[in-house]
Amino acid sequence: MSVHTPGHDANCIFCKIIAKQIPSKAVYEDEQVYAFHDINPWAPVHFLLIPKAHIPSMAQVGPEHAALMGHMMALVPKLAMEQGCNPYPDGGYRLVTNTGAEGGQEVHHLHFHVMGGPRPWLRG
Ligand code: AMP
Ligand code: ZN
Repeated sequence: MSVHTPGHDANCIFCKIIAKQIPSKAVYEDEQVYAFHDINPWAPVHFLLIPKAHIPSMAQVGPEHAALMGHMMALVPKLAMEQGCNPYPDGGYRLVTNTGAEGGQEVHHLHFHVMGGPRPWLRG
C-alpha cells in the first residue's frame, strides 16, 4: 500500500485510525468524517470527530473547507444526543478544538472533542 495516499499522512495516528491500522471504537463514519471514542475520556461522553482528509489543525482551515466544517458542526448535536449527552439546556456538552502547542494540541490531525454527560467530570 502506498504511503503517499493523497490527503493522508503516513505518520499521523488519526490517519492510521481512519485506515483501521490502529483500532478505535467507532461512533459515526461517512465519506468525509469519522468519529470515535477518546481513549482517555474526561467526561462520561467523550468522542472525537475528525475529517478523513489530513488537515493538521484549525490553523490550516480556510474557505475551501467551509462545506466540510459545516458538515462536521451539523453532526455534533445529533452524535452528542446519540452518545448519551443530556438535552439542552439542563444537559448539553462541550465542543473543543485545541490548536497548536499553546492551544494544547497534542495530535496534529484536526479533531473536535465532544464532551458531555452528568457532572462531575474527570477534567474540564
Ligand atoms: P488534543 O490534545 O486536543 O490533541 O487531543 C488528542 C486526544 O486524542 C486526546 O484526548 C487523547 O486521549 C486522544 N487520543 C490519542 N490517541 C488516541 C487513540 N488511539 N484513540 C482514541 N483517542 C486517542
Ligand atoms: Zn492525519
